[in-house]
Amino acid sequence: MGRRTRSKKAVCPRCGETVESAEHVPFEEKLYTLHCTACPRRVAARHDDPHFWGIEESVARRLGGGGPSFFDELMEGIGAALMPCSCGGTFSPMAAPRCFECGEVLGEVPDGHTLVGPPEGYVVEAHWRPDCLPSMRPGLSDQGSRGNRPPGDNDG
Ligand SMILES: [Zn+2]
Ligand SMILES: [Zn+2]
Repeated sequence: MGRRTRSKKAVCPRCGETVESAEHVPFEEKLYTLHCTACPRRVAARHDDPHFWGIEESVARRLGGGGPSFFDELMEGIGAALMPCSCGGTFSPMAAPRCFECGEVLGEVPDGHTLVGPPEGYVVEAHWRPDCLPSMRPGLSDQGSRGNRPPGDNDG
């Protein structure tokens, strides 16, 4: 399959569980992972979700189309739009992955990596806040492949 994802192994400093992490390639996988600030659960926001498009659109509008901070702002926007975790924590792009066994923060997991093979129940669906409005338009990163006009129609 030739996927060029790098994987690493990390050992939990508390319980010794070995966990594997793989580099996730957001624009290829179309999957954006945010961890809970308080437990090992995580949310994978799907790129074909209209709520996702809405966030993408508003970030693009704010930044004037894109720019180097686009991805960071997008991830922050997703985190802010997600309902809190059932444990009471929140899903944040700043939250570190945690050991599935004991919940300890795994400091060795590098940025941009996500733990693979979580037990059932640790990957939860994205539940959006009521004030996060869906968009009818497909995401910006699909532009070009469909021959759509570039975003530039300012309606404000
Ligand atoms: Zn552990
Ligand atoms: Zn949680």
